[in-house]
Amino acid sequence: MIQQVVLASSNPGKLKEFQQLLAGVGFEVLPQSHFQVTDAEETGLSFVENAILKARNACLATGLPALADDSGIEVDYLNGQPGIYSARYSGTQATNESNNAKLLEALKGVPSENRGARYQCVLVFMRHSEDPTPLICQGSWEGSILEAPAGDGGFGYDPLFFVPEHNCAAAELSKDEKGRISHRAKALKALLAQLQ
Ligand code: IMP
Repeated sequence: MIQQVVLASSNPGKLKEFQQLLAGVGFEVLPQSHFQVTDAEETGLSFVENAILKARNACLATGLPALADDSGIEVDYLNGQPGIYSARYSGTQATNESNNAKLLEALKGVPSENRGARYQCVLVFMRHSEDPTPLICQGSWEGSILEAPAGDGGFGYDPLFFVPEHNCAAAELSKDEKGRISHRAKALKALLAQLQ
C-alpha cells in the first residue's frame, strides 16, 4: 500500500530528491504547499528542534505523517556559527551572496588550517503531530572554507565550501556527485534504513 507523507518544505529540489528516494519504500511524498501549509517558525536552538517544529506543523495542518529537514554550515573558527542561522546569517533579507560575503569577511586573514567547517543535515519523520518517538537521522559533510568563491553549481555556501575528497568547491561538483556524498544524502540514507 502506498502511504502519503507531507514534506515540510517548499524547496522543489528537495521535493524531487525525497520523492525519488522514498518511492522505492512505498511513500508518495507531497509538498506542504499542496495543502496550503504555511511555514513553521524556526524558534528552536538546534537542527533537531527546528526539524521537529517543521514536521509537527505539517502533521497538524494535514493529518498526514510528515518529513522535515533542517540544515546549515558550522565553521570551527566561528565556534560553530552560523549553524542553525545559516539561511539568515546576514540578516532577515539575506541572500546567498550576502551570506557568503559575511562569511568571507569573518574569516579574513584566517589561515587555511583554521578554516575547517562542515555541513549538517537533520531529517525528522513524524507519524502524527503528537508522535513521542519521531525518527531522527543526521548526516554531516566535512570540508573547509575557501578564501574566494569557486564554481556556479549547488546553492547557498557551496562556492565557498572546499570538498577535500574532490579537491574542489562543492559548487564545482556535478549535481549527481553532490547528491551522493552530501550531508543530506547521508541523512537520507540513514532515514531509508530506519523506514525499511
Ligand atoms: P534549510 O535547511 O533549508 O533551512 O537551509 C539552511 C541553510 O543552510 C540554507 O539556506 C543554506 O544557506 C545552508 N545550506 C544547507 N545545505 C546546504 C547545501 O547543501 N549547500 C549550501 N548551503 C546549504
